[in-house]
Amino acid sequence: MHTRIGLGFDSHEFEEGKPLFLGGVRIDFPKGLKGHSDGDVLLHALTDAILGAIGEPDIGELFSDKDERWKGVSSELFLKEAIKRMKGKGYELINLDSVLIANEPKIAPYKETIKEKLSKLTGLPVERISIKGKRREGFCQVEGIACICTVLLRVPYEG
Ligand SMILES: [Zn+2]
Repeated sequence: MHTRIGLGFDSHEFEEGKPLFLGGVRIDFPKGLKGHSDGDVLLHALTDAILGAIGEPDIGELFSDKDERWKGVSSELFLKEAIKRMKGKGYELINLDSVLIANEPKIAPYKETIKEKLSKLTGLPVERISIKGKRREGFCQVEGIACICTVLLRVPYEG
């Protein structure tokens, strides 16, 4: 079976008063994530994991933060483009695994909602989507959220 693995990483600092989105889900929290788009670290890491697996340019190359078209947009748009390119090359997702690194907010109460949202966005069943919340534990001095994501892809119907 022809398979590909992809790895994505992203991080953003908090920004007061901006809405917080993780995995396309609005999180009830007083701070959002700084960034040109909505700053959704999970969708950015996932998008980069898919793009990396299929050998495409990364998210920063495709959607430059210098480009006004992407200012304030939903990061779902970036993921949709990565999935379009993935399908265009004949691949489908097998599973995705991710780690969200944040001291706040707590990820656990949102895990299932985020998985359901990612299931809708990727077409993967929820049992093939994993989200793990981790505290920073000295990983980074700046307040914000980081995310690491891996995906496995395959060419369907190949021997
Ligand atoms: Zn980002």
